[in-house]
Amino acid sequence: MNTAPSNKAYEFIDHTYDVVVVGAGGAGLRATLGLAEAGLKTACVTKVFPTRSHTVAAQGGISASLGNMGEDDWRWHMYDTVKGSDWLGDQDSIEYMVREAVPAIVELEHYGMPFSRTEDGKIYQRPFGGMTTRFGEGIAQRTCAAADRTGHAMLHTLYQQSLRRHAEFFIEYFAIDLIMENGECRGVVAWNLDDGTIHRFRAQKVILATGGYGRAYFSCTGAHTCTGDGNGMALRAGLDCQDMEFVQFHPTGIYGAGCLITEGVRGEGGYLTNSEGERFMERYAPSAKDLASRDVVSRAMTMEIRDGRGVGSGNDHIHLHIEHLDPDLIAERLPGIAESASIFAGVDVSKEPIPVIPTCHYNMGGVPCKYTGDVVTSKNGDPNTEVPGLMAIGEAACVSVHGANRLGSNSLLDLVVFGRGAALHCIDTLKPGASQAPLPADAGDNSLARLDKARYAKGSMKTSEVRLEMQKAMQNHAAVFRTGESLKEGIDLLGSIWTKRDDINVTDRSLIWNSDLVEALELDNLMYQSRVTMAGAANREESRGAQAREDFPDRDDENWMKHTLAKCDEDGNVTFDYRPVNLEPLTDEVQSFPPKARVY
Ligand SMILES: Cc1cc2nc3c(=O)[nH]c(=O)nc-3n(C[C@H](O)[C@H](O)[C@H](O)COP(=O)(O)OP(=O)(O)OC[C@H]3O[C@@H](n4cnc5c(N)ncnc54)[C@H](O)[C@@H]3O)c2cc1C
Repeated sequence: MNTAPSNKAYEFIDHTYDVVVVGAGGAGLRATLGLAEAGLKTACVTKVFPTRSHTVAAQGGISASLGNMGEDDWRWHMYDTVKGSDWLGDQDSIEYMVREAVPAIVELEHYGMPFSRTEDGKIYQRPFGGMTTRFGEGIAQRTCAAADRTGHAMLHTLYQQSLRRHAEFFIEYFAIDLIMENGECRGVVAWNLDDGTIHRFRAQKVILATGGYGRAYFSCTGAHTCTGDGNGMALRAGLDCQDMEFVQFHPTGIYGAGCLITEGVRGEGGYLTNSEGERFMERYAPSAKDLASRDVVSRAMTMEIRDGRGVGSGNDHIHLHIEHLDPDLIAERLPGIAESASIFAGVDVSKEPIPVIPTCHYNMGGVPCKYTGDVVTSKNGDPNTEVPGLMAIGEAACVSVHGANRLGSNSLLDLVVFGRGAALHCIDTLKPGASQAPLPADAGDNSLARLDKARYAKGSMKTSEVRLEMQKAMQNHAAVFRTGESLKEGIDLLGSIWTKRDDINVTDRSLIWNSDLVEALELDNLMYQSRVTMAGAANREESRGAQAREDFPDRDDENWMKHTLAKCDEDGNVTFDYRPVNLEPLTDEVQSFPPKARVY
C-alpha cells in the first residue's frame, strides 16, 4: 500500500482520557490497573502485546524484607540499596520503595501471582547480590521468586488483573512523540501498527513506562524492543534524561548470545572460575564473593580476562558452574536456566560450566522524577522544575532508587511500587472526567513530519547497518571500563553515525506492519540516548557504581555526588546540568546513610 508523501495523507483519530499510560510492562500495567480500579478513564498504549514486554523475561526475583527465611528489616534493605547505588540514590525514594515492598508483595500474592513456596507454605526467598542483614553483617534471603520465571508470573498476573478491571488497551500502537504545549505535556501521538491509522491521545497526565534502552549496545540481555522510546521522546521534547552514564553490565550473559543467566544461579550456590580453575571472586570480594554487587563482579571478570585468565580458545570469557548443585534443585528452582544454557551455549549444566561474559543489562538512568512519579527537568537554573502533565515509572524513569548501580531484584520491585504509587498520586490529584483545553492546532505535526521523513527515506544504508555501527561504538567505548580518551573517540564516532540517520533507506512505504519503519523510529530514539550516555560518561570524571573510569579510579563525593541532567538537541549536541542527591530519608523512622567506602 503506497501512499503519497504528504501529511495530508494522514488523518488523526482523536481520543480524550484522564490518563494515558505508555507501556504495558510491569510498571505500566501496575499503574494502569490502579487507575482503572479508581475510575479514572485510562488508556494503556503499547507497541507489543502486554505480556511480551521485557518484564516477562525477568528471571531471578523481586526483593522485599518479608523475613520468611531468616531475619530481615526494611532498614537493612534500605542500607543495601543506598550502598548498592554507591550513594547516588535518593534516600527519600529508596525509603519509600523498601517500605512499600512488603505490602506490594502481599498484594501480588493476593492477585494470584504463583510464587515458589517454602515447606511451610510461605513465599520462597533466595539470596541475591548485595542483599545483607544487619547493615552488611550477614547474607539476607530477600528475593521472592517464582522459580526462575518471576517476571513471567508477575506480568501475566498484572495483565489479568488489569483486564478484570476493564482497563482499555491500545495494543500494538507505537507512540511516536509527546504532545507538548508551553512546557506542559498534553498527550501523545501513536501509530496503530495493525491498520496504519494515526492517533492523538489527549490526557490530563501521560505516564511514560516504556522501559530501558539496552539495544543501544551490541551485546545485551534485553529484548529487541528495549529501545527506550520514552527517553527518546523526552529528549526530543527538550526535557532532560538523568544519570544516563550509569549502565549496568550483568556479569552472566551467555557468551555469544547475550541471553541472561540470572544472578539467582549464584544465589543458589553457583560460582565463577577463570582459566586456572580459580574462584577468583574470593580475591576481589572476600566476604560476599560471587554475590558481590553486579558492577563489582563484572569488573572482576573483565580484569581476569584482560590479565589473560579468560577461558575458551580466545581466553575471552569466564565459566559459571552449577554442576555441583543437586539436579532436583536445578529442576525446581532454575529450570529456565538449564534450558537457555542448552539452547544458546550447547551446555548440559549438570555436566559442564556455562560460558558467560558481562553483558549490558539495565539502565539506571532515565527520565528524572520525584518518588511520586512527577517528571522534573532543569529550566532557568532550577533542576527541579516540574513538567506538568508528565510522569515516568519503571526502567524509563530515574527516581532515583538505583543511583549508580542497581541491586538485582530491586527493579521488579521498583515497577510495582512506583507503578502503584503513580496511580495513587493521580487518584489524589486528578478529577475523573475533568475538562481539558483543546490541543494546539499543530499538535502532532512534528510527529507526522518525523514519521514521513523515515517512511520515505531513500538513503544508501539500511537501518540495521547504522544501528550496528552505533551498537559497536557503545560497546567499545562506553562499557564496563572507560577512559577519557576512548570516550572522546566514542563521541566522535557517534557524531558521524548521527549524520548517517539522514542516509537511511526504508524500502517498505506502507503503514501496515511496517517493521522497517518501526526500526527506523526506534533507531532515532536509541541515537539520542547513546549520545547522552557517551557524553555523560566522558563528562563525569570519577568512578562510581557502574561508571568505572580508569583515568579517574576513585569516587569523588566532593565534586560528583550529584545527578547528571543531560539534554540533547536535534544536532546531537549534549548539554549538562546537575541535581543534588537527596541524602535525607522520607521519615524519621530511619537515619540517613552517609557516604562511606563501598566494600563487599
Ligand atoms: C533478561 C532480563 C532479566 C531480568 N531479571 C530481573 C529480575 O529477576 N529481577 C529484577 O528486579 N529485574 C530484572 N530485570 C530488569 C527488569 O526486568 C526490567 O528493568 C523491567 O522489567 C522493566 O520494566 P518496565 O515496565 O519498565 O518496561 P518493559 O517491561 O521493558 O516494558 C516496556 C513497555 O513499553 C512499551 N513501549 C515501549 N516503547 C513504546 C512505544 N514507542 N510505543 C508504545 N509502547 C511502547 C512496550 O510495548 C512495553 O509494554 C531483568 C531484565 C532482563 C532484560
